[in-house]
Amino acid sequence: MRILVTGGAGYIGSHTCLELLEGGHEVFVLDNLCNSSVEAIKRVKELSGKSFEFFNCDIRDKSGLRAVFTKARPEAVIHFAGLKAVGESCEKPLEYYDNNLGGTVCLCEVMQEFGLKNIVFSSSATVYGRNEPPLSEDMPTGDCSNPYGRTKYMIEELLKDIYASDNSWNIILLRYFNPIGAHKSGRIGENPKGIPNNLMPYLSQVAVGKLAELSIFGDDYETPDGTCIRDYIHVVDLAKGHLCAINRLEQSKGLEVFNLGTGHGYSVLDIVKAFIGTTGVNLPYKITPRRAGDLAAVYSNSQKATELLGWSAQYGIERMCEDTWRWQSNNPTGYED
Ligand code: NAD
Ligand code: UDP
Repeated sequence: MRILVTGGAGYIGSHTCLELLEGGHEVFVLDNLCNSSVEAIKRVKELSGKSFEFFNCDIRDKSGLRAVFTKARPEAVIHFAGLKAVGESCEKPLEYYDNNLGGTVCLCEVMQEFGLKNIVFSSSATVYGRNEPPLSEDMPTGDCSNPYGRTKYMIEELLKDIYASDNSWNIILLRYFNPIGAHKSGRIGENPKGIPNNLMPYLSQVAVGKLAELSIFGDDYETPDGTCIRDYIHVVDLAKGHLCAINRLEQSKGLEVFNLGTGHGYSVLDIVKAFIGTTGVNLPYKITPRRAGDLAAVYSNSQKATELLGWSAQYGIERMCEDTWRWQSNNPTGYED
C-alpha cells in the first residue's frame, strides 16, 4: 500500500516507517520537523535499504498538503503528527488545539477532497482518564486532566463524527500506552528536545551523564512499592501494531478502536531496577513529591488487538531497557552528532 505517514520523522513514526518498509509498503513521510530531525529519515533509509520521499510540510498547510497528496497519491494515512508534552500543553493550550485538533481537521479536509478515507490515528491511553485499570476500549473516555489529552479525545470524537456522516471512511484509533525502547540497531530512538519530561528518556540521560539524578515522583501511591505503575511497551512492538492496523484497514471496513499495550504494569522502581540490572550502569535517583496530575496505575487490557489485529507485544521490560541504553549510549546527543 502507498502510505502517507504524518509525523514520520518522530520517535514512533520513524520506527513505524521502518516496519512498513520491511513489510513491503511504499512510504511517504510528511513532517514539519518541529520536534524531530531529518537525520532520523536518513537512518530509516539506511536501515531499510530503501528510499522514500520526505515532505517538509505542516499538516495545517492545506495547499502544501494538496501538493503532497497529488505527488504521493497515498491509499492510507497514518497520522502521528502532533505536539505531545503534557506540561507544555497546560502553558500553551492554543498551540495544542491549533496544531493537534486544527491540524487534523485540515488533514481530513484534504483527505476528503482527494477521496482518501483510510486513516490510522495515534491516540493515547490518556483518553481513559480515571477509569480503573485494566483499561479496555469500551470504557468511557474524555475525563482528561490536561489540554494535550483533551486534543486526543476531541480528535477521536471528530473522527467518529466524520465516520457517522459517511461510513465509507475506514478509521482505526490506536490508544498507545507508554512507548519506550528503540530499534535494536541503536540507530533510531527517542530524541527529546531540551530536558525530557518522560521517565525513560530522563532516566537514560542520567545514565549517560547528561543529567545528574533521576527524581522519582512520589512513593506514597497505593501501589505495591508506592511508586506509579504504567504499561510500558517497546516502540518496535508499537510500530508493528501499525502494520497490523493497516492490514486490518485493507480487510475490514468501519471505525475501530484498539489499545496497544502489553497488559502488564511496572512501577517506576521496577523500571529503575530493570535498567540498572540489564545495563549495569549507575543510576543516581531520589524520591521527590508527586507530580501533579499523575495517576497511581495505568495499564491496558490489550486482548482486542490480539483477537482482531492478530497483534501482541513481544518484548519484555529488560529488552526495552537494553535497547534504550544502546540508543542513548551510542547517541549521547541524539541525532545532533
Ligand atoms: P514525536 O514528537 O517524536 O513525533 C511527532 C512528530 O510530528 C514530530 O516529528 C513532529 O515534528 C511532527 N509534527 C508535529 N506537529 C506537526 C505539524 N503541525 N505538521 C507536521 N508535522 C508535525 O512524538 P511521538 O512520541 O513519536 O508521538 C507520535 C504520536 O503519538 C503523537 O501524536 C503523540 O501524541 C502520540 N502518542 C505518543 C505517546 C508517547 O508517549 N510517545 C503516547 C501516546 C500517544
Ligand atoms: N516519572 C518519574 N520521574 C520522571 C519522569 C516520570 O518518576 O522524571 C514517573 C511519572 O510520575 C509516572 C511514570 O514515571 O508515574 C511515567 O511517566 P511519563 O511522563 O513517562 O509517562 P505518563 O504515563 O505520565 O504519560
